[in-house]
Amino acid sequence: MADTTHGALAPTYHPLPVTIARAHGTHVWDTDGNEFLDFLSGYSALNFGHLHQGLVAAAMTQLRQVTLTSRAFDHDRLEEFAQRLVEVVGPLTTGGEDSLVVPMNTGAEAVETAIKAVRKWGYDVRGVPEDQAKIVIAGGNFHGRTTTLVGLSDDPVARDGFGPFGPGFVRVPFGDLQAVADAVDDTTVAVLMEPVQGEAGVVIPPDDFWPGLRALTAEKNIALVADEIQSGLGRTGTTLACELWGVQPDLVCLGKALGGGIVAVSAVVGKPEILGVLTPGTHGSTFGGNPLACAVGIAALDLLSTGQYQARAAASGKVLQERLDALVDQGLLTGARCVGLWAGVDVDPKLGTGRELCEALLERGVLAKDTHASTIRLSPPLSIVQPELEMALDILEESLVAL
Ligand code: PLP
Repeated sequence: MADTTHGALAPTYHPLPVTIARAHGTHVWDTDGNEFLDFLSGYSALNFGHLHQGLVAAAMTQLRQVTLTSRAFDHDRLEEFAQRLVEVVGPLTTGGEDSLVVPMNTGAEAVETAIKAVRKWGYDVRGVPEDQAKIVIAGGNFHGRTTTLVGLSDDPVARDGFGPFGPGFVRVPFGDLQAVADAVDDTTVAVLMEPVQGEAGVVIPPDDFWPGLRALTAEKNIALVADEIQSGLGRTGTTLACELWGVQPDLVCLGKALGGGIVAVSAVVGKPEILGVLTPGTHGSTFGGNPLACAVGIAALDLLSTGQYQARAAASGKVLQERLDALVDQGLLTGARCVGLWAGVDVDPKLGTGRELCEALLERGVLAKDTHASTIRLSPPLSIVQPELEMALDILEESLVAL
């Protein structure tokens, strides 16, 4: 196994013992030339696969033109990127074709942007008394690593030691509509949740949850904010996971695959009445909406607008579901939750931990990552072909038997 001792790096990660040197499509190679199937895809940032030709070409072309202007000056890809995002994602939100876009870089910044927007909308438009705005969030959430966002988490590893945390958030159990209804009052400006919780282990809420959230928030004039940073952009077999339940959120946070795994691109898209409160000077980012990011983002949206990736995720997802259900029936897994080409897989703790399963997969040529003790997540590039998927699932079965 490769040496993954990271002398100068702060120990913020515990990576699997592999050092990647090259990648293409669904495949990566380590420094010794060993080949692996990538079943993590950069936590869904690589939905289009590694080094997609069209994305690389868009980046290379832009690299020869201009890469950064800051928002002090406009550049010729910025409005094009925003327009394309509105075309592809706007109609899936209540903003429709009039949606606005705030371009940022990381997912955490997109969520922070949404929080700022709904609070300011609450004060300026809804008339919520100053500093009283409240946002309802879910237990088991993962929205990012800023001090505000880890304050929302109930995972002690992510949260403990980083306080004090600010007020203004109420945490309720994920999927419990009544708990949300009980938590909201006149000062509630938003409900902010992941449609399907990724880091929690691909946790899918009951079918009536998101439609119920939509009805409740619409009735009470509360903003419904979907963090689709991991679930969005094709992963669930639809452009947004919210489409699975026919729900249009008011704001959607996007990231990861928006930059095609090449550059960090995130954005908040949605209702102009809400995002329009972010006037000059109230929000920004040196790199947000930079020309390189926009060029890659436009190319990623072009890929997505063909519908091909969503269709592939849905079709391959059926195979994934069937094979995982069979492993549950065999008693090798205690549970498997699948939505599109995305699965949370629970190993029987008697057989081993999620980490041990990931190590067994690595030895046999598949890269995956544990989320919690006995849960791992499977999220290959949406471009995966059936023989690769079947091969990885054979390896999963073999690895479970070997545990
Ligand atoms: N929101 C969700 C749902 C995520 O899964 C993630 C990252 O895994 C984030 C936000 C944070 O994104 P980033 O790591 O780009 O800040």
